[in-house]
Amino acid sequence: MKLSNRIANINAGGSDGWELFTRAREMIAAGQPVIELTIGEHDTPTDPIILDAMIASARAGNTGYAAVPGSPTLRQQIAARYQRITGVETEPDNVLVTSGGQAALFAAHLATLNPGEKGLICDPYYATYPGVLRAAEADLHSVPTRSSNNFLPQRDELAKAAKGAKSLLINSPNNPTGVVYPAETLQMIADVCIKNDMWLISDEVYDSQIWQGKHISPRGLPGMAERTLVIGSMSKSHAMTGSRIGWIIGPPEIVAQIMNLSTVNAYGVPGFIQDAAEFALLQGPEFEAEVADVFRTRTKLAREILLGSNILRLIPAQGAMYLMLDVRNTGLSGEEFANQLLTEELIAVMPGESFGHSASGHLRVAMTIPDEQFTHALKRLVLFAERLAAD
Ligand code: PLP
Repeated sequence: MKLSNRIANINAGGSDGWELFTRAREMIAAGQPVIELTIGEHDTPTDPIILDAMIASARAGNTGYAAVPGSPTLRQQIAARYQRITGVETEPDNVLVTSGGQAALFAAHLATLNPGEKGLICDPYYATYPGVLRAAEADLHSVPTRSSNNFLPQRDELAKAAKGAKSLLINSPNNPTGVVYPAETLQMIADVCIKNDMWLISDEVYDSQIWQGKHISPRGLPGMAERTLVIGSMSKSHAMTGSRIGWIIGPPEIVAQIMNLSTVNAYGVPGFIQDAAEFALLQGPEFEAEVADVFRTRTKLAREILLGSNILRLIPAQGAMYLMLDVRNTGLSGEEFANQLLTEELIAVMPGESFGHSASGHLRVAMTIPDEQFTHALKRLVLFAERLAAD
């Protein structure tokens, strides 16, 4: 039986350079002591107080179908959090609760793009972005960025790509680069979106992880509220990746329509998960800071270690849980470096090539192991690069 083109195309780009990740997993399964710095997930599980709230909710009977757009009190808390962080006025009816930021990304693209319409992403990109646009049957275009510009999109390239486009997906703080978009870049993006009458889908799932600069949501810029859909999540801010809870923030009439998609797709997020998320949000900014500070500390450690290297260049680590390293001075591609590092040092990092063409010759290092092991692994990586460059 033949499947639809839609489903067959989701992975049209193949594994997109994730062979190294698979190889590392196989080595681990075979008992090799591989140090895993590939995946963006906290090294600690969800806080027990959140789990207690989840269990209490389920035990109290909240195990039936839940409100599809999210419970009124959770939507209220999400709106209040977004308003606190960004200063942009937000009401509960601006918020739709989804099964993680991932479902929000999918819903936002399905809602804004007709099949065949041009949708833009910035290269390098988070691994699922191309598949999301392909699943929406969009005409996917990537806007290149450059290491020398800290991977920030530039006006001329974006303006050129924007001709005939209907949507642009951005991500700040950025995975994989660790860069936080400054105000000028976001204003330039807003100008291009307005000029070309485009939707802006702003993935802000790392909004609690800012080490330098400030998180600015482009939804707050003049003329942007009606054309911006913000993607958010409890995954990174509250170490709740497995709970699968996130949201879209946008104009109420758009949110109401996207809810129709949630109805036919997931029929809501489990009520006990929603209650746990609400409890977690009520713990306030101090709780989020505690979850984030682990990565702030590791960013500092990394800066100190990499300061001494004249082979590796650290892209400014301004946010999120990743380091982006330029390894071109070793003469190797990111893939070659990462593969040799895995074979010879048993350290697994992602080649930049896994995230698009713009990050070739780079590595993404997830700062997701305890400080001491992280320091040790990074020092070994630096020594390895020096050996390669000397050969
Ligand atoms: N967006 C970015 C940039 C991410 O890095 C991730 C996860 O790693 C997601 C979205 C999806 O997050 P979740 O579906 O867990 O909320």
